[in-house]
Amino acid sequence: MKSVLIGVGQAGGKVVDALSDFDARNGFGAVIGSLAVNSARSDLQSLPLDTVLIGGAEVNGHGVGGDNELGTKVMRDDVQEVLGAIDGRVTARAEAVFVVAGLGGGTGSGGAPYLVKELQRIYDVPVYGLGILPGRDEGALYQANAGRSLKTLSREADATLLVDNDAWRSAGESLESGYEAINERIARRVGLLLAAGEAVDGVGESVVDSSEVINTLRGTGVATLGYAAAESSSEAAANVNVVTSTTRRAMRSGLSLPDTTSAERGLLVVAGRPETISRKGVERARSWLETELDTMEVRGGDFPLSGDRLAALVLLGGVADSDRLDGFLERARQAADAGDDDEDAASALEDDRIDGLL
Ligand code: GDP
Repeated sequence: MKSVLIGVGQAGGKVVDALSDFDARNGFGAVIGSLAVNSARSDLQSLPLDTVLIGGAEVNGHGVGGDNELGTKVMRDDVQEVLGAIDGRVTARAEAVFVVAGLGGGTGSGGAPYLVKELQRIYDVPVYGLGILPGRDEGALYQANAGRSLKTLSREADATLLVDNDAWRSAGESLESGYEAINERIARRVGLLLAAGEAVDGVGESVVDSSEVINTLRGTGVATLGYAAAESSSEAAANVNVVTSTTRRAMRSGLSLPDTTSAERGLLVVAGRPETISRKGVERARSWLETELDTMEVRGGDFPLSGDRLAALVLLGGVADSDRLDGFLERARQAADAGDDDEDAASALEDDRIDGLL
């Protein structure tokens, strides 16, 4: 799926960098443009990407701290410049735009939803959010900011793919020291999803099409991506269980939003050498997913990749039931209630379910 990636804020820029790098290293060609936008000059300087500094008049390159309302304001003030920079990248080949941000900070948290709204007015291709939720040990301001940002983002974007910062971090690793590893994991998983929607020369019928990714994500709401991989045998017939057990692991322990138990739609992509992908395994894994998710709409396809491993990538659109999401919303609500000076955030989260989400 030919995609343009726009990172807003520190986390957004770093994740876009990691994704662009993954795509280029593997020669997939799914990332056709990228850009980093921030109000903090120093965060932009370390990125090997084209950049736009916003809020120069207001914060003079020093960032907005954790003030996500200021994040929205600086994006609004300078949005024409940002849109101008994006314009040349969303060419006729583009099939989707992703706006990537850490939802708990300031610039990305406040700026990304506003930017998505503007992009929706301009482009016909879907505009998705890729939002990073703060880990459960991060402070109240992060939780409250992320709650408010998610509410707006999930309303404006065609879908919002969430990555919980606790989901893909290694045990025993602190969040800060683990960012690079988490970003690498996001890059591999989302990068494979984007690449899976690309035409691949000389392969059989089951290759995933971009439209299947888009259909799985259609309708606003929250999406999550799961991943697991395992050694495989050189023959498809011996890999029935490898495919089914890898799919189960992707769901049970590999989701970007853990503990998601039901969703409106699913897409299962099995990646590996074509001759090792068991058709029977894929069919069984798909019907297992339909039962597990309580939906009849689980698409499937292969992604031919070299190597001795088989990987299962599971995309869930229209997440309907997720303990992790409920837990986060509860934290965000409490944090907003506790912040004396944050009445807006509290009232934004008053309805205990995000609009149109659950
Ligand atoms: P901004 O620059 O004001 O938009 O703020 P940040 O992008 O630093 O957002 C803060 C949130 O993003 C916090 O929840 C952090 O845990 C998270 N975060 C910051 N940097 C990274 C990163 O490189 N990777 C990931 N996965 N999360 C990050």
